[in-house]
Amino acid sequence: MNSTPNVDPAELAKFSELAHRWWDPESEFRPLHQINPLRLEWINAQIPLAGKTVLDIGCGGGILSEAMARKGADVLGIDLASKSLKVAQLHALEAAVAKLRYREVSAEDLAIESPGTFDVVTCMEMLEHVPAPSSVVNACAALVKPGGWVFFSTLNRNAKSFLFAVVGAEYILNLLPRGTHDFQRMIRPSELAAFCRSAGLDLHGTRGMEYNPLTRRYWLSDDISVNYLMAVRRPAINRSAA
Ligand code: SAH
Repeated sequence: MNSTPNVDPAELAKFSELAHRWWDPESEFRPLHQINPLRLEWINAQIPLAGKTVLDIGCGGGILSEAMARKGADVLGIDLASKSLKVAQLHALEAAVAKLRYREVSAEDLAIESPGTFDVVTCMEMLEHVPAPSSVVNACAALVKPGGWVFFSTLNRNAKSFLFAVVGAEYILNLLPRGTHDFQRMIRPSELAAFCRSAGLDLHGTRGMEYNPLTRRYWLSDDISVNYLMAVRRPAINRSAA
C-alpha cells in the first residue's frame, strides 16, 4: 500500500463497511449528498471549475469528484479505501462522466510523484479522520500549482460542535453512525489556518455549514462553530525568490 504512515486503518474500515451505500442519498451519506451542491457552488464561485485540473483527496465514493467533473473539470479522486474507490469508479462508468479518474494513493505519496500539478485541490470531511492532518495540508500545498486554490472542510472542536456533530448527529438524530467522529481529531479553524500558513498557503476565506434538524436542510453561513469550509491559495510567485 502507501509508504507513508499517515492513515488510521480503523477509520478506513468504517468507510469501507458502508462503501456500498455511498450513492444512496438516504443512507449514512445523506449529509454529504445534501451539502454537496452547497460546497460545489462555493468552490465554483471562487474559481470556475470548467477546464481546470482538480485533485479530490479522500474522495470516498466520489460524490464531490463526480459533481466537479460534471462542471467540466478534469478530476482525479484519491482515497486509501479500495472498496470506496471501486464504488466511485463504477458510478463514474455508469454515469458516463468524462475526465474523471480515481487512484488508490495517499496525498503525501502523490505530492512526491506529481508536485505542482493541479489548479485546484479539494480535501473535504477528511482531515478529521487522519492522524496527522498537517501532513495532508503540506501535501496539498505541494500538489497545487503556484497561484492555485485549495479547499478544505472539516469539523470545529468546541462544546457546541461536540453537542451538534457528535451527540446530535450520531446519538439523537442518527444522521451518522455512532463513532463516525472522534472529538479529539476535530480541528479548530485557527489550527487549520496555522497548518496552512506553515505550508505556505494564504487564507482566502471561510464559510460555515449549518443544519436545521426540523426542516432537514443545510445552508452556508458565517457561523463556523461546527462544520466549516476554508479556501486557501498558493502564492503565484515564490516570495523568497521575489
Ligand atoms: N471527501 C468525501 C468523503 C468524505 S468521508 C466527501 O466529502 O464527499 C472521509 C473519506 O476520507 C473516506 O472516504 C475515507 O476513506 C477517507 N480517508 C480517511 N483517511 C484517509 C487517508 N489517510 N488518506 C486518504 N483518504 C482517507
